[in-house]
Amino acid sequence: MDLNEDVKYVKGVGPNRVQLLNKIGIFTLKDLITYYPREYEDRSKIKNICECQNGEDTVIEAVAVSRLANTRIGKGKTIQKLQVRDETGLATITWFNQPFLNTKFYVGKKYRFYGRINEQFGRVEMVSPVFDDIRETNNTGKIIPIYPLTFKLTQNILRKIIENGLEIVKENGGLKETIPSYILNKYDLVEINKATNSIHFPQNNEDFKNARKRLVFEELLSTQLALLQLKNNNINDKKGIQFNKNVKMSDVINTLPFKLTKAQLKVLEEIDDNMESNKTMNRLLQGDVGSGKTVVAMIAAYKAVKSGYQVAILAPTAILATQHLTNFKNTLDKFGIRTELLISGITKKNKEQILQKLADGEIDIIIGTHALLEENVIFKNLGLVVTDEQHRFGVKQRMTIVEKGQNPDELVMSATPIPRSLALILYGDLDISIIDELPPNRKTVETYAVTGKMDERINNFIRAQVKEGRQAYIVCPLVEESEEVDADLKAVKTLYETCKNETFPEFRVEYIHGKMKPKEKDDIMFRFKNHEIDILISTTVIEVGVDVPNASVMVIEDSQRFGLAQLHQLRGRVGRGEYKSYCILKYKGKGQNTKERMKVMCETNDGFVISQKDLELRGSGDFFGTMQHGIPEFKIANLFTDIDVLKLVQGVAISVVDKDPKLEKEENKLLKELVKDKFTDRIEI
Ligand code: ADP
Ligand code: MG
Repeated sequence: MDLNEDVKYVKGVGPNRVQLLNKIGIFTLKDLITYYPREYEDRSKIKNICECQNGEDTVIEAVAVSRLANTRIGKGKTIQKLQVRDETGLATITWFNQPFLNTKFYVGKKYRFYGRINEQFGRVEMVSPVFDDIRETNNTGKIIPIYPLTFKLTQNILRKIIENGLEIVKENGGLKETIPSYILNKYDLVEINKATNSIHFPQNNEDFKNARKRLVFEELLSTQLALLQLKNNNINDKKGIQFNKNVKMSDVINTLPFKLTKAQLKVLEEIDDNMESNKTMNRLLQGDVGSGKTVVAMIAAYKAVKSGYQVAILAPTAILATQHLTNFKNTLDKFGIRTELLISGITKKNKEQILQKLADGEIDIIIGTHALLEENVIFKNLGLVVTDEQHRFGVKQRMTIVEKGQNPDELVMSATPIPRSLALILYGDLDISIIDELPPNRKTVETYAVTGKMDERINNFIRAQVKEGRQAYIVCPLVEESEEVDADLKAVKTLYETCKNETFPEFRVEYIHGKMKPKEKDDIMFRFKNHEIDILISTTVIEVGVDVPNASVMVIEDSQRFGLAQLHQLRGRVGRGEYKSYCILKYKGKGQNTKERMKVMCETNDGFVISQKDLELRGSGDFFGTMQHGIPEFKIANLFTDIDVLKLVQGVAISVVDKDPKLEKEENKLLKELVKDKFTDRIEI
């Protein structure tokens, strides 16, 4: 049996459903059976009608004592009522606009209903429940998994499809074990088939816990082993470049218009040491938004170039690459360093020239986007690779660029800092430097979370700021659960029309969107930077790195939909100059979690605190946020709640690799497979 078989071969999956499944990332049978529930509803325990409490979700088992009564209640609307009883009392079951249910119920027959109880003065009602014939357990009578879902795919449908997927697996002899038995036994882990079945359809809490424990263990173990392998590769097999000791970083530092912070200097020292040593540098540079990572990269680049090597700077967006180009040129042109840009937007001719010059060694620093990863990009002697905003790139992409040189040093920069303890575990393959201090005179961005009818006041505030000469960003909601491919674009355009024509007709309003051509995007950002635009309506394309010091207001619509780390990034777009800046988080929903998240944003500007809280408050199965951390996305493990397992597993991984560095022993054959799997798909971020 091939777990990579297309999900379309699973019973119940037609062409339409294939598309819906693809949308939630399910392409293969393996994706399907590892699409884990977000939570569970215990519909196995049946309550007596007389014990039902107002507001609770519960199962009752009762006999129909009437036919389904169908009543019109206004235009096109109907209400259905069914009277039922058990030994302890009577209840009314109510549905709306479902007259077709009348074929489902027979007087005198017993059914199970699951839904919310509405109890008043001893009268028990259940509204719009799901139900089963007493002989069935489709919707009730067991613990029901609840999956993270999107548009049009219902819980019932997905549950059935997953059931069918598991059935196929079983018919074909089951899943192959992935963890060697010596580890399964030692840590008391259930075998893979039991775990997989029970995570979807647990018999009871115990069963669920055992299943989860094993799957979390497996997921973390494979990540840890993969990271250790990476690290070993780096240390053992590679002799790195020794950059010239006589090239002094201080030569650049002395020309800067500002004094570097202590933290920046410390980090530069670590980098300098690495660069001068004969080992390859693999260093992660963490620092909050605005902590000044770019200048650190520039100084390292100077050292590499003046030692006779080329440097590649990999940035996630054309806007950011272009901005880096300006900054690098400002700082390094005076040293005779030749810096160029390579993004997909440039003309063919221009591109050919750049590629030629790069191969001939006539370019010292090349700054670019994914375009740098292409095969035809060849360096004469690449000595240093810098990856900015590393969470936008996968390990594979990093490797692709690194392999264009001979063991070049590598500096990986991340603006979404995570606690050091976690970073040490998660980035096992990298050394870590942290800039834990912002340049002086940075003002904190005053943040407000607002809900309800505040639009007028907010708009007045924006107006006042723009009149004073400032600029504003309005970030649009992510559009989820939509069938329309360009829903995000549409949302931005709609808001843009309203702002331009109705709300702010007196100002210069523009919009920017990720699907625009790089050239168009650059053009808009350039005009915004030049203050030819007052208000920029945007999707999250502006999220990383863009620097417009005159912008002082950041309004984020539907902020409840963003992860905290991402909100923090967005907020980091303002407060970059001398002006007092504001971030207004508009949000909907009264959930405790939403409120708490908003509170965190208002109370702190510290990226480390925020990322910690983000981990803490994020439920598993939450699709926003994870990507923003740049930590590998986990299907089941939760880095906050599973930190103990993570530590345990790290110990296991280390001891395995100590005894068998390349996982060549027979007993570790399975682990080798597990790691291979990690490299081919999941470690990709
Ligand atoms: P990030 O770490 O978010 O990438 P940047 O490198 O873009 O931050 O730096 C943000 C801004 O702060 C830039 O305009 C940069 O020139 C400036 N900057 C960097 N270091 C310092 C410093 N030590 N003192 C004052 N300004 C600084
Ligand atoms: Mg940056």
